[in-house]
Amino acid sequence: MLLKRRHKPRCRVFGSGVFCLAERSKKMNESKEIFADPWLKKATDTANLPEDLVFVCAYDLDIGPDFIEEAAFFRRTETADELWIAAGYVVPMVRAIADGTAPPGDLNVRKLKGIGCAFAVEKGGEERVSCLNLLEHLFRARLGFNWPKGFLDPGMIGESDFNRVVRKIERELEENARQAREAETEIIEVARELGLCPQPAGTGPSFWFARCPERNHPLFIDAAENEFGCGWCKRKGGVEELRAFVKERKDILRKRSTESM
Ligand SMILES: [Zn+2]
Repeated sequence: MLLKRRHKPRCRVFGSGVFCLAERSKKMNESKEIFADPWLKKATDTANLPEDLVFVCAYDLDIGPDFIEEAAFFRRTETADELWIAAGYVVPMVRAIADGTAPPGDLNVRKLKGIGCAFAVEKGGEERVSCLNLLEHLFRARLGFNWPKGFLDPGMIGESDFNRVVRKIERELEENARQAREAETEIIEVARELGLCPQPAGTGPSFWFARCPERNHPLFIDAAENEFGCGWCKRKGGVEELRAFVKERKDILRKRSTESM
């Protein structure tokens, strides 16, 4: 699997998927999505890459504990526009793709973290515009798990267009965070009181992150619904369930420390 983090990338589900942060979908402009695999979970046949991939650009990807490089490719078929990605820690390889000295078909895929088609949409108008839309769609799809930082090499897309896309999304995140701060609800106050340090997530005007009690991962809060959820712990609920969840974790901790005394 591509871009593995400490925690498995899963949609920001609060159990049932109610809070899937899929706000991104509405941003996919005009083109209809026909394939989506931003984590390359379906990419198995990596040895047979299409020869007609066009290099889009390469950039650093902040995956939380680390940075990796990622190169993006565009492909237009009879009916579809596709965005392919190749990522890994192997800088020379991504550079070689960028320089055109390593055609995609010659890639030593075993040295990469992953390579495959991330998105396909119905064939659009101008290739560059469609490509930019696909790139934006990719960055939005992985919001909260990784983020493009630092432009490496231009191809079909140059640094200024790349930065424009990134900055546009960042501005939306900032605006969402501002709105979230202005519309705090009871569950945010309670999370703060319980020491869970809630912070606006930026991915929606009412979405917050907080610390999952006694764990090293975040839990997610939809302030508008006064609900929290942790996909890792498979817990969700309202204000009272949050209080009970924290108490339960503290009780376990207290019991352990008493036993060890
Ligand atoms: Zn948890």
